[in-house]
Amino acid sequence: MPAAVRPTAVSLLTPHYPVRSLANTGVVALGRPWAGLPSPPVKSAAERRELLKGVYEEARGCVRCPLHQTRTTVVFGNGNANADLMFVGEAPGANEDRMGLPFVGQAGKLLDKLLAEIGMERTDVFVANTLKCRPPDNRDPHPNEIEACQDYLRRQVDLIEPTVICTLGNFSTKLLRADSMGISRLHGQAEIRVIGARAVRLYPLYHPAAALYTSSTLEALRTDFHRIPELLALGPPEQPRAFEESVPELDELLVEAERPAGVDELLVEAQRPAGVGEPEPAAQLGLF
Ligand code: SF4
Repeated sequence: MPAAVRPTAVSLLTPHYPVRSLANTGVVALGRPWAGLPSPPVKSAAERRELLKGVYEEARGCVRCPLHQTRTTVVFGNGNANADLMFVGEAPGANEDRMGLPFVGQAGKLLDKLLAEIGMERTDVFVANTLKCRPPDNRDPHPNEIEACQDYLRRQVDLIEPTVICTLGNFSTKLLRADSMGISRLHGQAEIRVIGARAVRLYPLYHPAAALYTSSTLEALRTDFHRIPELLALGPPEQPRAFEESVPELDELLVEAERPAGVDELLVEAQRPAGVGEPEPAAQLGLF
């Protein structure tokens, strides 16, 4: 599918914003704290890939939450760094944890099948999860883990600049909508939300894993999924004014000031050939 024409926009690179825990819901919300940030000019596909590899390198050594103690490997996400369509699931499972790639089991096969039904494939989209490391025994993510991990997802959205984000299941839907409403009430209802530095079309869907064993859920997922081309055809939503009014010189200063120590070294490291026994970053990422 041809990529839609990207609008000129601006955005900050890597600030960390505290997330809000919604009282009594266990929901950690990303929507508002990210909203309305100015950002740098639109990047080329090659620039996006390189910057994503840099974030991946950072995540690869992440110890921000206890899941680093039990993971086999970080599952950062993979697909097209220049995609208009992004999927955000829950967390890696056992296969994903072993292979370092998202949605590689039965749920991934269903995702591929549904993509094929709308004339797309994995190389057209970017697929990520709310958590980058597997919770032991596939338990639900804990709020402190989601909070610790949210910055990676925000930076992925900022760099990829998708037009449509499909949240898969409850966790990513609640996180990106900053609301505790569940997927059974929201699936199939697109809305415009400001995520990070951009307004996107947010489109909650049932998680493919939930559709594997329940035919009514599969039917609903398929019906919703078939509306994705319609949403993509609408193009990017209007962007908040703040993005158009940013001062380039100030942005450059902010990007420099906010860059975490060591990122330059990680980017250099990412371009080196991987050593024996190390996963080669771009290969694991499967970036296109
Ligand atoms: S789940 Fe996220 S925050 Fe926790 S260790 Fe993995 S990458 Fe870091």
